[in-house]
Amino acid sequence: MKVLGLYSLAPANGKLLSFPPGPQVLSILSSAELNLAPSEQPPTNGTTVADVKLRDSNNGPLGYLIPRQGELRLDGVAPLTLAMLHPGTLLSIGARRWFVTTQWQPEPSPAPAELAERKCPVCGGELKLAPVVQCTCGRYYHLEKPDAAASEPVLNCFLAGACGLCNRPPSLEPVLTPEPPEKLMDVVSGEW
Ligand SMILES: [Zn+2]
Ligand SMILES: [Zn+2]
Repeated sequence: MKVLGLYSLAPANGKLLSFPPGPQVLSILSSAELNLAPSEQPPTNGTTVADVKLRDSNNGPLGYLIPRQGELRLDGVAPLTLAMLHPGTLLSIGARRWFVTTQWQPEPSPAPAELAERKCPVCGGELKLAPVVQCTCGRYYHLEKPDAAASEPVLNCFLAGACGLCNRPPSLEPVLTPEPPEKLMDVVSGEW
């Protein structure tokens, strides 16, 4: 499962502000942090930056944004009256910058109906036999009980080894895709 969010680059705080479902108001608080709140309950100690709404697409979640603040930039450009927040976009307000990215969380869920009969690449069984997880590359694996002991008879195919498609080692840690360009930011702000 992937969630869309904003990752603070300058200053970096290592946290993802994820978009909840439903219309949200994006504000900048007096602490200079960004905040998301339901449209009907904007924070009292912040300045409204934009209205945002999440939408699911085949390629994962997308955000729509209606700018409400003159300093807001997307990839360095003042956004149009309705702009898209897709992963990889750089959002800035003055000198502060955020990176739009998705956080992938390896949470087991029932196999999507259209994939129920597809075979698991590890055990060869149909995906519907157990809960599944989707690798960041898109491939599905059985993941019945991530915290099961090694002796338990569960279908934890995802944890059996590196992904056969993208070679990613199995891990249950959340992953940001795309990765925030922190190294690039260091290069740009430091020595050339
Ligand atoms: Zn399997
Ligand atoms: Zn993979």
